[in-house]
Amino acid sequence: MILLTNIGQAEVALGRSLTYWEGLWWEGTHNVSDYYLYCLNIIFLFTIFTIAPLPYVLLDVWKVKSAEKYKVQPGVHNAPSATWRCYKVVMWTFFTVVGPLQLCSFPAVRSIGIRFGVPLPSVGEVCMQLVLYTMVEDYGNYWLHRWLHNGWWYDKIHSVHHEFATPMSFAAPYAHWAEVMILGVPTFVGPAMAPGHIITFWLWIAIRQLEAIETHSGYDFPWNPTRLIPFYGGAEYHDYHHFVGAKCSSNFASVFTYCDWIYGTDKGYRYMKEMHKRGLVAKGQAQEQNGNGWLQKNDLKGLPASLSEGIRAS
Ligand SMILES: [Zn+2]
Ligand SMILES: [Zn+2]
Repeated sequence: MILLTNIGQAEVALGRSLTYWEGLWWEGTHNVSDYYLYCLNIIFLFTIFTIAPLPYVLLDVWKVKSAEKYKVQPGVHNAPSATWRCYKVVMWTFFTVVGPLQLCSFPAVRSIGIRFGVPLPSVGEVCMQLVLYTMVEDYGNYWLHRWLHNGWWYDKIHSVHHEFATPMSFAAPYAHWAEVMILGVPTFVGPAMAPGHIITFWLWIAIRQLEAIETHSGYDFPWNPTRLIPFYGGAEYHDYHHFVGAKCSSNFASVFTYCDWIYGTDKGYRYMKEMHKRGLVAKGQAQEQNGNGWLQKNDLKGLPASLSEGIRAS
């Protein structure tokens, strides 16, 4: 790698003048090591894990009435003590697993070809890479998550993430340390396949976490712009997976719905949606009265065995 010591050398190396944004990037980073830039991810992640869930968590803890109609499991709220414990566990895992992993993984990030200097990527390049990373991660996550629902893997590892049958946004990264490492793999496969700039990498990690936080929020707002994304799962989709719990054979995908549709692992969820639509399950009313989630015992009457298998009646 040629070490560029001034902006003129950078422009000669590029064969053109730096753009406004490239000039800013150069000024801000040319005296900073690539390792330091990569490690900024730790601060970004800490901030996202702490700040982004707060609006949803406050709606849940304060049981805000006007938001209740958007709650996926109306009337079911996590106790403030459980919410605080969840955050403390997430932070413990963050400082003992996620942070150290970041500190150690720089050689791998360097070797796959992530760039740190100028030129900056175009908006088109960033968008195409983010779409690819999301698709690759979603597909890999689907199969790993499905595998984690088997016997020993569920009992010893994935059951930790399922502790919250009524998800909340702090619970998005609430998982066994081994799960954090296992499900972290598909997150890095996309950047390894199509390495981009460190800015793209930061954006990717931030978007992935924000998506998981929204998906675990327990609230499904109609004005959420993610509803415009084709095949996007969202809060309600993943909430069902948590509500059913250990024996859930539905909704394994992390972002989109098509993997579950292709591999037939959305049958229970689709059936319940159909029942809600036909009014056979009074979603909301019954849940509010009984303080339970998606299903009541009576809701299982008439449900075909193939679909009721693994669906929990509280
Ligand atoms: Zn699961
Ligand atoms: Zn989850």
